[in-house]
Amino acid sequence: MQIVNSQISIEKTSHSRIKEQDINNTPFGKVFSDHMLVATYANNSWQEVKITPYGNISIRPSLSVLHYGQAVFEGLKAYKNYQGKPVLFRLEANYKRINNSAFRLCMPSIPKEIFIDGLKELIRLDTDWIPTKSDSALYIRPIYFATDESVGLKPANSYKFIILSSPTGTFYSAPVKLIVTDKYVRASEGGTGAAKCAGNYAGSFLADKEAKEQGYDNVLWLDGKEKKYIEECGTMNVAFVINDVLITPKLTGSILGGITRDSALTLFRDMGVKVEERLISIDEVAKAYEAGNISEAFGMGTAATIAHISVINYQGKDMILPPVDERKYASQVLQKLEDIKTGKVTDPYGWICQL
Ligand SMILES: *Cc1c(COP(=O)(O)O)cnc(C)c1O
Repeated sequence: MQIVNSQISIEKTSHSRIKEQDINNTPFGKVFSDHMLVATYANNSWQEVKITPYGNISIRPSLSVLHYGQAVFEGLKAYKNYQGKPVLFRLEANYKRINNSAFRLCMPSIPKEIFIDGLKELIRLDTDWIPTKSDSALYIRPIYFATDESVGLKPANSYKFIILSSPTGTFYSAPVKLIVTDKYVRASEGGTGAAKCAGNYAGSFLADKEAKEQGYDNVLWLDGKEKKYIEECGTMNVAFVINDVLITPKLTGSILGGITRDSALTLFRDMGVKVEERLISIDEVAKAYEAGNISEAFGMGTAATIAHISVINYQGKDMILPPVDERKYASQVLQKLEDIKTGKVTDPYGWICQL
């Protein structure tokens, strides 16, 4: 991959908006920091990388992503550690994943100089936007999409890669209530479920909406073939503690390999917990519930980190799981992750990257 111009040009904003914001108390994803990074791919190479004030981009109605959805994205967080220094969590893993997603959608890979170096440069410029309150963070959203001005049905020749960021106050996640659906599927083997592609989310909205209409927060997804094996919950990976064994669906090809999932599994194993990555059917969970053997269930993802699951509705019946304060596994891992991110304990995994 040739980078015609690997230099990043920087245009700083002349009036920072930060004073107008209470960055420790903004709702998720509504307020954006001062700068963004914009990289352009055209004529078989990356052309231009610039950091500019956050603002409009101009598009025409023929923009190919609007027609065929050739778009992928990422989500990661920057934190302030206990010394007030900015850190990023598992940036390399996001870098790998966006290029795997891009490969699945026939998009050129993004060079490290743009994703890693560019992202660091951008966040360094906006470090004041990283909230300091515990549990709060600067949510970083890289997006990558097709920009041909053409409705021709083929992978595009030109693309934009943009990084924006958004401070998020404490992401308190109340325990979530899930409903199993066999009416909709999120993804099937061979499809795009393992890629972080924008269309996967659009495809899940209706199921999510109907779950909410029935009084639940989100859907517990089953596999697309047999509608039997558990895949994910909402837009998070999912795990269960049954008889003190941590069980999570194995990555079959239709499940998104979450970085929070990977981090949590690593910590559980190192804490001596028995971890099983395998197929787990909804009937197995229902049986374990009947027998009183299921002590925890939780979702894992960057936005909430860990979201306890309080209720799972299956075939019209609510399985009500034990109260959160009786759960030891998920809470312990959540604490450990926070301690690593804030530098309270040393990071033996190389997950933390200083800015
Ligand atoms: C992003 C995402 C996750 C969680 O991944 P993290 O890297 O932990 O944030 C899980 N499921 C889906 C469908 C996702 O898009």
